[in-house]
Amino acid sequence: MKKDFTPTLLDFGPLQIYLARHFGFCYGVENAIEIAFRTVDENPGKRIFLLSEMIHNPQVNADLQNHGVQFLQDNYGKELILFETLTSDDIVIIPAFGTTLQQEEKLKRIGIQTEKYNTTCPFVEKVWNRSEQIAKKNYTIIIHGKPKHEETRATFSHAAANAPSVIVKDMEQAIELSKYITGEKPVSEFYEEFKGQYTENFSVEKDLQRIGVVNQTTMLASDTQAIADFLKQVMINKYKLAPDNTEEHFADTRDTLCYATLENQQAVSSMLDIKADLAIVVGGYNSSNTSHLVELCEEKLPTYFISSEEKIISSKEILHFNLHDKLEMRTENFLPVINPVKILVTSGASCPDALVEGVINRLVSFFKTELTITKLIEKFQ
Ligand code: SF4
Repeated sequence: MKKDFTPTLLDFGPLQIYLARHFGFCYGVENAIEIAFRTVDENPGKRIFLLSEMIHNPQVNADLQNHGVQFLQDNYGKELILFETLTSDDIVIIPAFGTTLQQEEKLKRIGIQTEKYNTTCPFVEKVWNRSEQIAKKNYTIIIHGKPKHEETRATFSHAAANAPSVIVKDMEQAIELSKYITGEKPVSEFYEEFKGQYTENFSVEKDLQRIGVVNQTTMLASDTQAIADFLKQVMINKYKLAPDNTEEHFADTRDTLCYATLENQQAVSSMLDIKADLAIVVGGYNSSNTSHLVELCEEKLPTYFISSEEKIISSKEILHFNLHDKLEMRTENFLPVINPVKILVTSGASCPDALVEGVINRLVSFFKTELTITKLIEKFQ
């Protein structure tokens, strides 16, 4: 059945908010948060740790910390609390993006039961299973993902257990990788260029003859598709393949994006058909899926990536994250003086709905209107 991705119009009169049809929390995040809070409730007096941030949302993580949960590592795998200080009595929760086999092994050696408090999202596990299937057919696994992202590090570790693997972060890197496949670049340069992104004993000559692509679940669908299509064509050209024997060198896989990433991206694409004045995307600044929603909006109209309503200082000023400089910046006169002002609003998979509501309420407060979100929502009930 064809899904409806038309945005919902919240018409406040002088302000029109177009809310993406799908936005916010996904199954994996909700499940992980529920398990984390249940673990706290069921284990009074025990030390409870999270291997790293549960999800990429500062409010959710702060809430967990307020309940006594401590973070063992930062987002880049740097230890905040030494693993040596852990005991078998401690509880360690594995976050939604999963973890590496090495970390799991380390915790098991201490006597910590990781299976009981593992909140790895089933959609991440699906990528690991897909990698295993490709590996069994002797393909090398190309992972389209952010090399430092926890999920990609976890996927890389699982893939590496089964087959040679390389991470490519974008099309630019895919193009560079293709030059080693075609022989345009000397093999020796690969090891420096892809440092930290390939498995031990990777052989450029041997391991780039049969390849398959999987991806971090939260990448941009069109980027992954473009990378897979490009690498497939490289193999077809190099080995003079026909459609019926392409699989000899390129595994026929569909992308491994999760449903939430896809739905949120499709809802944004549909929302962008509206002629609006600006877009506001709510989410944690280090959230991969949110940043892709921002990229989609940025192509069409002025876009402000904010982590909460507090970033909207006034009707004249907004603090927002610049994805390209990785810095928060201040923009003045972000709201045009027209009537009505049309704003597109969405949020990433790790963003609680309450934050989106807060942002809408803040925007409404700048306009003369009797209407509130609650009143408008009644119409839909
Ligand atoms: S974004 Fe997708 S893969 Fe990640 S936790 Fe949510 S449902 Fe799972």
